[in-house]
Amino acid sequence: MAARILNGNVIRDEIYGELAGEIAGLRSAAICPGLAAVLVGDHPASRLYVNSKIAACAKLGLESFLLTLPSSISTAELLNTIDELNRREDVDGILVQMPLPQQVDRKRVLASIDPAKDVDGFHPMNVGMLVEGRPKLVACTPAGVMEILRRSQIALEGANAVVMGRSDIVGKPMAILLMHANATVTVCHSKTRDLKQAVRRADLLVAAMGRAAMVTPDFIRPGATVIDVGQNVITDKAEAQRIFANFPEKLDTFRRKGSVLVGDVHPDVFNTAGAITPVPGGVGPLTIAMLMSNTVRAAAMRRGRRAPAARASKH
Ligand code: NAP
Repeated sequence: MAARILNGNVIRDEIYGELAGEIAGLRSAAICPGLAAVLVGDHPASRLYVNSKIAACAKLGLESFLLTLPSSISTAELLNTIDELNRREDVDGILVQMPLPQQVDRKRVLASIDPAKDVDGFHPMNVGMLVEGRPKLVACTPAGVMEILRRSQIALEGANAVVMGRSDIVGKPMAILLMHANATVTVCHSKTRDLKQAVRRADLLVAAMGRAAMVTPDFIRPGATVIDVGQNVITDKAEAQRIFANFPEKLDTFRRKGSVLVGDVHPDVFNTAGAITPVPGGVGPLTIAMLMSNTVRAAAMRRGRRAPAARASKH
C-alpha cells in the first residue's frame, strides 16, 4: 500500500502563519528580528542555501544582512566579523554557512557566536541545554523533523526510533530530541554491524547519511514512518535510471534538467512505509522554517520577553 505523504511545504506554511503573529507582536513593541548570514567563498550550493534563507526572511518581514567574505579568509579574520555581529543590536541571529574553507577552524568559529544569537543551535552551550532537556535554540533540521512528527500525529512514546547518521548538526541532536520525546532510540553509523537488521526494528526511521537512495524497501518494517533528511544530487544517467525505474516523472525531470534530487531513502520505500517525507518537499522546507522560528525566538529572548516554548520541545 502507498505511504501517507508527510508534506513539508504544508507544515512550513502552517509555521509561517504562526510566526507572522509572533513577529507582529514583536513589531508592535518596536522589535524587528534580524538575521545575519555569513557566506565564505563562492560555493554555488552554499550561495543557493543562503539565498533561500534571506528570501524566507523577506517573506516573513524579518531584517536580514548578508555578509559575503573571500574564501582566503583566516580564522582570526572570521572571528573578528563574528565579534562585530555579536555586538550589533540589530542582529538577533547569526548563521555561518557551512562548509567553511579548510584553513578556517570551524569549531572555534561556531563557539565564538554569542549563544543567544546562535540560531543554528550549534554552540556547545545550546547543545548542552538541549541535552539537559532545557532547549533554547535547537539545531534547525532535527527541530524541523520534530515539527513534522508532532503535526502529523506520529506517536513517539515507547516507539522504536532509529537514527541513521551521528553528525553534530543532524544525527546527534535528532537522537536527543527523540529520546526526550520518550522514544527508544538507536543511533546507527558507518561502523554499525547488521545495519539492515537494526533499521528493520524501527517504528520510526530518520535517515541522515548523505548516501543516495541507500535505504531500500528491505530495510523497512512495513508500515513504519520514514523521515528522509538526505539531499543528494544525481547527475549520472545510469544511476538515475536505476533509482527511479518506477518513477517516470522523475526520469523526465532528469532529462529536462540533467540532474535530479534523491534522498537517502530509495523511492521504492514509498510502497512499504506507512508514512514518508518526500525529497524534495519534506524535511528541507522545515529546516528554513525552524531557522526563522529560532530568529524570532532569539529576538524575544534577548530582550527579556517571554518567548513561546522552543518548537522542538513541544512534542
Ligand atoms: P555527515 O556529517 O556527512 O554525516 C553522515 C553520517 O552518516 C555520519 O555519522 C556517518 O557515519 C553516517 N553514514 C555515512 N555512510 C553510512 C553508511 N553507509 N551506513 C550508515 N551510516 C552512514 O552528514 P550530515 O551533515 O549529517 O547530512 C546528512 C544528509 O542530510 C546529507 O544528505 C545532507 O545533505 C542532508 N541534510 C539535509 C538537510 C535538509 O534541510 N534537508 C539539512 C542538513 C543535512 P560516521 O559517523 O561513522 O562517519
